[in-house]
Amino acid sequence: MSQLRLAVLPGDGIGPEVTGAALRVLGHCLVGSGVELSCSEHLIGGAALERSGEPLPTATLEAARGADAVLLGAVGGPVWESAPVRPEAGLLGLRSGLGVFANLRPVRVWPGLAARSPLRAELLEGVDVLFIRELTGGVYFGRPQGISGKPPQRRAVDTSDYGELEIERVAELAFRSARQRRHRVTSVDKANVLATSRLWRQVVSETAREYPDVGLEHCLVDSFALRLLLQPRDFDVVLTENLFGDILTDEAAALTGSLGVLPSASGGGAGPWLYEPVHGSAPDLAGRGLANPLGAIASVGLLLEHTLGRRELAETLQRALGEVVREGPVTPDLGGTASTDQVTEAVISRLPSGVAA
Ligand code: NAD
Repeated sequence: MSQLRLAVLPGDGIGPEVTGAALRVLGHCLVGSGVELSCSEHLIGGAALERSGEPLPTATLEAARGADAVLLGAVGGPVWESAPVRPEAGLLGLRSGLGVFANLRPVRVWPGLAARSPLRAELLEGVDVLFIRELTGGVYFGRPQGISGKPPQRRAVDTSDYGELEIERVAELAFRSARQRRHRVTSVDKANVLATSRLWRQVVSETAREYPDVGLEHCLVDSFALRLLLQPRDFDVVLTENLFGDILTDEAAALTGSLGVLPSASGGGAGPWLYEPVHGSAPDLAGRGLANPLGAIASVGLLLEHTLGRRELAETLQRALGEVVREGPVTPDLGGTASTDQVTEAVISRLPSGVAA
């Protein structure tokens, strides 16, 4: 790809601050790469509600669909808590409008951050797990769903529903990802109780036959939740369905010691991938210049790898981020006193283009 058309959706709260930082770093990563970057900015979330009455204006979705990749900040905030339409609806609409079915969350414990984790440092050394969560199926979308009846006879029902092809496509993504890493997939389910999990296990095993060079283990979700805390180094790629992934990725985030450093990428279909930090809009920090930009910057690293296929650029950025976390400066959430801008400058100064500048 010689041109990268990026749709930037800063959103609310600290979203504009961290996407601004990530864009500056991306510009530096691409110096001399032969890739020309063109960005367009669009409204989403509360900012879009204020301007257009909708959390995801049609123009935003169209621009996102027409781009090579989408970079999102965060949406939401207390101002819109009781609004009839919440800003977060914009994010769900964007994900489904882009047809992204897999959420990738790499969880790495940076050496400088082990002390901030609730786990002992010796358990965390070398932890490097890629979570792949299925995003479009399972109990969040199955029907029927709802509450019926009157007290004291009320009942509620949720339906978990998975089709074979939905499982197969996300499993293929997990096996392909493992080939770029340490060649191991752990598939997490609840096959001893749930029918959807039994189908999940069968289809993942069938898909594995196409990837004989990748080792596969199945693990029950309850046992996995325990192992993740006892032996987090055991895992390479972790593949799981929507609900389990939602819960386990937050558990994994705790290992790293800060929400502010975690990136994510969503994709898998034919359309553009969506890159965003894991954290929310942090209204308590908005406008103060103190937001940690590392999660958004690391999301740009995922873009370099997945959209541009430039693994070497992603690795250079990863090294720069590691050095900044180890040597500083860092923002207050990591125990430092630096501003968003100072951290961004420090990352840029460790990139080859930053040194030359
Ligand atoms: P949050 O992630 O915004 O904040 C949780 C805590 O982490 C806060 O103390 C915040 O200051 C801190 N934090 C978050 N990001 C940080 C960063 N980059 N640097 C330093 N500290 C950081 O979660 P919340 O407070 O539960 O939610 C706030 C709003 O964000 C809500 O409206 C929620 O719906 C929304 N939200 C949006 C997304 C998203 O857009 N993907 C995700 C989660 C929450």
